[in-house]
Amino acid sequence: MTKKISCVIPIYNEVEAFGGFYEKLLLPALEDLDYAYELILVDDGSNDGTLELIQSLAKTNKYIRVLRFSRNFGKEVALTAGIHLAKGDAVLTMDADGQQPPKLIPEFIKKWEDGAEIVIGVRGRYEKHGLIAKAGSKLFYKMLGAMGVKDTVPGSTDFRLIDRCVADEYNKLTEHGRITRGLMDWMGFRKAYIDYIYGNRLAGKPSYNFKKLFALAIDSFISLSTAPLAVFGFIGTFITFASLVLGIFVIIEQFMMGDPIGLNWTGTTCLSIFISFLVGLVLVSQAITAQYVSHIHAEAQGRPLYIIDRKQSRNLDDEK
Ligand code: UDP
Ligand code: MG
Repeated sequence: MTKKISCVIPIYNEVEAFGGFYEKLLLPALEDLDYAYELILVDDGSNDGTLELIQSLAKTNKYIRVLRFSRNFGKEVALTAGIHLAKGDAVLTMDADGQQPPKLIPEFIKKWEDGAEIVIGVRGRYEKHGLIAKAGSKLFYKMLGAMGVKDTVPGSTDFRLIDRCVADEYNKLTEHGRITRGLMDWMGFRKAYIDYIYGNRLAGKPSYNFKKLFALAIDSFISLSTAPLAVFGFIGTFITFASLVLGIFVIIEQFMMGDPIGLNWTGTTCLSIFISFLVGLVLVSQAITAQYVSHIHAEAQGRPLYIIDRKQSRNLDDEK
């Protein structure tokens, strides 16, 4: 039996872009493959005629499967639903607006055939960005790195291909606030990278504006790391320690030795030092509470403790 590639595309209000993209770029690329394919279109609650468009495409092409959400659930959830549905030996995910060139699909497949289990499209290495976008994305990856999330290569996108074994493990994850690519990076497996240039949209407007991107960044930080919670603990410890040292100094210098240096500490100064000390304590105790919360958070996410690479393992009892 020929192997099959599942192509998963989340679509939200792309009536202007998708028809042309499918006809001119996507379909030829899929039909050219040496593999069978299925094209899973996840309609994320579009209300602009996208659904009718893809339904009519499904009539002309029996390899198209349409999954329609009852409302807009967001791209991450749409991707996840598509991967759940996919039956192929590898699952390719991409956007509906033509910004990711389907002509690269054979390169993804080549890397997969060569043994990579996650092939990740990386954008930006050859790209000219706006200054702010560039600084923003740099900062994002710097912060992720600082928080101990080291598995994510800057510029990696959702244009990727995953092996069946990765999809199977991915399908076991149940957490709600999810960033698909962050989760996949967390999962491990053998990775390979393909550089590409993020093209312009064929038509329509991006539905990710600055506000949404910012929310996505915050979501990534929170779902991938608990380090932000610890930062305030450090600040609090510093304040407590500094005001404690200063306070002891004042007590000895002014009250026990009678102010030999002549610093003449006023009551207000003493009070400020005392208040700083208390503020520091409050921050520390908050950070401790936060550690408990972070443990609860980790439990609530319900991630598996480990992920088994079944292809490389031997003689596991549950293996056929
Ligand atoms: N998308 C989606 N649900 C949403 C927003 C976007 O399924 O709520 C899809 C959209 O149709 C496209 C992909 O996700 O296929 C990427 O969206 P967009 O082009 O707006 O983002 P960007 O190119 O800025 O990453
Ligand atoms: Mg786009």
